[in-house]
Amino acid sequence: MLPPPQPRWVGDDLAELEKAMEVPTGALAATVSLYNRHATEGHDPVHHKAAPWVRPLRPPYGVYDVRGQTSGFTLGGLLTDVDGAVLDIDGEAIPGLYAAGRTTAGVGAGGYASGVSLGDGSFFGRRAGRSAAHR
Ligand SMILES: Cc1cc2nc3c(=O)[nH]c(=O)nc-3n(C[C@H](O)[C@H](O)[C@H](O)COP(=O)(O)OP(=O)(O)OC[C@H]3O[C@@H](n4cnc5c(N)ncnc54)[C@H](O)[C@@H]3O)c2cc1C
Repeated sequence: MLPPPQPRWVGDDLAELEKAMEVPTGALAATVSLYNRHATEGHDPVHHKAAPWVRPLRPPYGVYDVRGQTSGFTLGGLLTDVDGAVLDIDGEAIPGLYAAGRTTAGVGAGGYASGVSLGDGSFFGRRAGRSAAHR
């Protein structure tokens, strides 16, 4: 059995973590601050995390590096309509922006089974491509 994954970066200070992670100055602190502001009220209007898991983040922080991982993939992401138009946070289509596949919150977001990804990507990818070409 594989050991549980470990965070690549750990620390109490977000500014120091930003440097270690080589992300733009202030980016991580701003993200955590925005998330925490809503989490203290028990909701996550940005990423729509399910309420039972919404808790403010407090130090020490642990950051997992998921780049290059092949043992898993995202099952959530951009919201689209059935024709691949990407929706903004208010549910309005963003003109000219289309997406399909694992970058979107497609069929797999509701539960995963083999075939969901290829079916999702090809079926909705075709629809998104046709919509973009039609536009
Ligand atoms: C070993 C393995 C087995 C799998 N088996 C199954 C299975 O049996 N059934 C199933 O449903 N799914 C399976 N999957 C998952 C499935 O293959 C993927 O989830 C699916 O291919 C994702 O499709 P996608 O179009 O979202 O992304 P991708 O197929 O990753 O397509 C993204 C494309 O964007 C391109 N790209 C990236 N960056 C840029 C850029 N900056 N500019 C332009 N192009 C860019 C990439 O080159 C790539 O062609 C398997 C995956 C793996 C690795």
